[in-house]
Amino acid sequence: MCVACDPAPCARACPTGSLTQRAGGGVKMDRDLCIRCGKCAAACPVDAIYMEPEQKYPYLCIHCGRCVAFCPHGCLAMMDVPGVASGKADMAGNDEEVQDAY
Ligand code: SF4
Ligand code: SF4
Ligand code: SF4
Repeated sequence: MCVACDPAPCARACPTGSLTQRAGGGVKMDRDLCIRCGKCAAACPVDAIYMEPEQKYPYLCIHCGRCVAFCPHGCLAMMDVPGVASGKADMAGNDEEVQDAY
């Protein structure tokens, strides 16, 4: 799962600007710029980027928080980290971005 690196190695490794750092943590993706090279997945220190084997598109967490309610053991939480701007505002109304990303 994405740990919202700052700076994000995945975004730094992306040669096209498809992945960019999100204000408040994590990254966002412009699917149209992706050349499916896999460099982002190779750069992620926690294996949080999945390269789908057929289309070879990267899939990654976009910090929507929807998984939190589904974990039966309460292992997940969305929280603000002191000193880091909240990513929630950046995610507000981002369903369109979710669709764009995948
Ligand atoms: S996908 Fe990986 S490298 Fe990119 S911000 Fe998340 S944890 Fe860090
Ligand atoms: S697979 Fe796409 S998002 Fe990942 S590094 Fe390559 S161009 Fe960037
Ligand atoms: S549900 Fe949202 S926050 Fe949870 S792993 Fe998937 S993209 Fe990330």
